[in-house]
Amino acid sequence: MAATTISIMDIAENTRVAVVTGASSGIGEATARTLADSGFHVIVGARRVDRIEALAQEISGTALPLDVTDDESVHAFTTAIPRVSVLVNNAGGAKGLETVMEADLDNWRWMWETNVLGTLRMTKALLPKLIDSGDGLIVTVTSIAALEIYSGGSGYTSAKHAQGVLHRTLRDELHGKPVRLTEVAPGAVETEFSKVRFEGDDERAAKVYEGFTPLSADDIAEVIGFVATRPSHVNIDQVMIKPRAQAGPGKFHREPAQS
Ligand code: NAP
Repeated sequence: MAATTISIMDIAENTRVAVVTGASSGIGEATARTLADSGFHVIVGARRVDRIEALAQEISGTALPLDVTDDESVHAFTTAIPRVSVLVNNAGGAKGLETVMEADLDNWRWMWETNVLGTLRMTKALLPKLIDSGDGLIVTVTSIAALEIYSGGSGYTSAKHAQGVLHRTLRDELHGKPVRLTEVAPGAVETEFSKVRFEGDDERAAKVYEGFTPLSADDIAEVIGFVATRPSHVNIDQVMIKPRAQAGPGKFHREPAQS
C-alpha cells in the first residue's frame, strides 16, 4: 500500500468524504478537484499511484491504490475508508472499435471487467457505509453509449448499457434508503479516453476530436460538483451532456481545417 498524504483517520469529524475512482486522469481527476473545492475530503483511487498521490497532495485528500478489476485491491481500498458520503464510479473506458464480426474477446473482457464489474465491486463494498452516512450519493459516469449504439462500438456500448442498468436498478432497490443516485452520461470528452481506446495511438486519438470543440473533463466535473451539493431531498436521476457539435454517438458536425 502506498503512503497516503493525509491519514484517513485525521479527517475532521464534520467533513464529508467523497471517493472518486479513476482519478489519475480526465473526468475523475477533474471531479476530485471540484469536490475538494466544494469542501469534501476526497479519496482518490487508480492504478497509476504516482499521479493520484500528486493529486491528493494538491487537494489535501487521500490517495489509495485501486484496481477495480481486482477483488483484493477493491477490498483493501474500501476497508481502509472509515466512512463515505459520495461515491463517484468513474473508472472505465473503451478498447478497440471492432465490429461484432471482428470482435476481440480480450477487449470485451477488459471493458466489462472495468466498467461493469468494477462499478459493481465498488458499489457493493461501499454501500453499507453510504447508507450509514445518512445522506449517501452514488454518481456513476456511464456514457451516451449507455443509451445508444454505434457500429464498431458494441463492446463498449454493451458494457456501458450494463453499467447504466446496474446503476438504475439500484435507484429502485434503494428506494426508501438515504442514498441518492445520479447517472452522468457524457458524449465526447477530450481526455485520455481515445488514447486508451486506440492503445496509445496519439494520432488516431486526436482525429476523434478534429473539427469541433469537444467537452472538457472540467465540463463534466462541474456537473458532478453541482449534483453533489444539492440538498438531500433532491435526486438528479440522469444527466446527458454532449458537445453542441455532437447529435449522437457517431454524429459530429466538423468544421473543415483552416489552411
Ligand atoms: P481517461 O482519461 O482514460 O480516465 C480513465 C480513468 O479510469 C483513469 O484514471 C484510469 O486510471 C482509470 N481506470 C482504468 N482502468 C482502471 C482500473 N482497472 N482500476 C482503477 N481505475 C481504472 O478517460 P475519461 O474520459 O476521464 O473516462 C472516465 C469515465 O468516463 C469512463 O468511465 C469513461 O467510460 C467515461 N466516459 C468518457 C467519455 C469520453 O469521451 N472521454 C465519454 C463518455 C463516458 P489508471 O489507468 O491509472 O488506473
